[in-house]
Amino acid sequence: MSDAYVQGRVLLLNGSTWEPLAVITVARAINLLMAGKAVVVEQTGEFLRTVKSVFPVPSVIALRTYINVPRRQAHWSRKGVLMRDNYVCIYCGVMPGSLLKDKILAKSDFTVDHIVPRSRGGKDQWTNTACACYQCNHRKGNRLPNEAGMKLRWEPKTPRTSYLVIAVGSGPDAWKRYIEY
Ligand SMILES: [Zn+2]
Repeated sequence: MSDAYVQGRVLLLNGSTWEPLAVITVARAINLLMAGKAVVVEQTGEFLRTVKSVFPVPSVIALRTYINVPRRQAHWSRKGVLMRDNYVCIYCGVMPGSLLKDKILAKSDFTVDHIVPRSRGGKDQWTNTACACYQCNHRKGNRLPNEAGMKLRWEPKTPRTSYLVIAVGSGPDAWKRYIEY
């Protein structure tokens, strides 16, 4: 069985723009489909059998009409920062699987670095935080990058998509193309 079926979650897209709105249950998705409010975009290949009928289990559905939702500011979280940056160190570029000092790095070797350290007024904000390997994080310590002679390889940005969507355990592959960073 596919992940989406086992987890019972469906990615709901807005009408016409197909931007992700929410992660909903299979039951809610089927209700929206049956009410004619949504269309299937991707299927899981699994089927849900009821006494009366058989439904293909959707993985991604889209509303038929566009609903105007104010773009939510993506909620900041440590996990969200690591996912936004794909676990790539903003200072040296290593990632899980990279070799650092005879050690193969795992996700757990990556931390969230405050570019302006919290001790100096830096906030928990998307633009002030980035993924850093433990070595760079340690090396930088309580300093600003330029004080530590370290350069940012990219500019941390506030993601467009709510990490509500991405934080759901990365989601099945079928969801990925609908998620913009
Ligand atoms: Zn690093």
